[in-house]
Amino acid sequence: MDPKVWRVELNDGHFIPVLGFGTYAPYEVPKSKAVEATKLAIDAGFRHIDCAHLYNNEKEVGLAIRSKIEDGTVKREDIFYTSKLWATSLQPQLVRPALERSLKNLQLDYVDLYIIHFPVAVKPGEEHLPQDEKGKVIFDTVDLCATWEAMEKCKDAGLTKSIGVSNFNHRQLEMILNKPGLKHKPVCNQVECHPYLNQSKLLDFCKSKDIVLVAYSALGSQREQWIDQSSPVLLDDPVLCAMAKKYEKTPALIALRYQLQRGVVVLAKSYSEKRIKENVQVFGFQLTSEDMKVLDGLNQNVRYFTLEMFAGHPEYPFSDDY
Ligand code: NAP
Repeated sequence: MDPKVWRVELNDGHFIPVLGFGTYAPYEVPKSKAVEATKLAIDAGFRHIDCAHLYNNEKEVGLAIRSKIEDGTVKREDIFYTSKLWATSLQPQLVRPALERSLKNLQLDYVDLYIIHFPVAVKPGEEHLPQDEKGKVIFDTVDLCATWEAMEKCKDAGLTKSIGVSNFNHRQLEMILNKPGLKHKPVCNQVECHPYLNQSKLLDFCKSKDIVLVAYSALGSQREQWIDQSSPVLLDDPVLCAMAKKYEKTPALIALRYQLQRGVVVLAKSYSEKRIKENVQVFGFQLTSEDMKVLDGLNQNVRYFTLEMFAGHPEYPFSDDY
């Protein structure tokens, strides 16, 4: 199956490819690798590319996209590019300048999707995680509904085709949906989602509101410095591995396919040519409904990204049940 044709409609009428390429790599990985990996991903058939100001690689990812447009592999309209508004720019007057800065780094005229990266505001400035003398992150206070109104203006100005959120819980989504005078609904909520944290309640909630759930760390995360190293390794799970054997696929493909079959748009990060090519094979097979239930049974509420440095903030999203 050709991955390029697999898209679902968002609540604003735009279409999102159901398989996305994750571009985030830990800071020690040379930025030039992002150029190479993004080009390989486009060559392999990925059309949805997920990035963010926070990842410090929008220049490189933009360069890769432009070079694949210039060499004729794709047109700009074939690519679905997501960027994210970082926590230092949640004050409404900082939203548009933040998006304009991303566009400048990318050397693109618009992004396809701009999402609020995390619902917690921190002190504005160049530092992504400003800290006090005790090493505590310096929080800021912002009305997320006012941030959302600034996001709506970015869409109306044509700087982004669609707008959405990331790491919001259902209460925070309700708050936006119930905002008086809401002009544009969030099209998506991008959250951590994999068999160990299947987000079934949040998924049901999002579906009931016509909001697409986009899964990050669907392969169990990159287990880098932010992650508790004692957490279980998803792709080593014996049930996942046995199922991979049965279907003659890999555990990674089973984990990606699981999301597609439950109506979740799924991201997969890889900087390896072999694994990038492998991941687009997710369209070539189907899991039975019994096996989907078996995978549902793996849920154990293991969250890799707890982001505890934000835990004292009233908008920290992960204290609620969902
Ligand atoms: P992930 O997609 O869970 O991947 C984890 C690791 O799996 C990668 O390091 C990759 O290593 C490996 N891998 C990829 N394909 C494989 C395969 N076929 N077989 C075996 N291993 C494979 O990683 P993630 O970065 O946590 O999440 C994906 C993307 O979601 C990110 O890149 C980013 O775009 C986004 N994200 C968003 C947020 C947010 O707050 N909104 C948070 C985290 C991530 P190799 O590179 O060595 O292949």
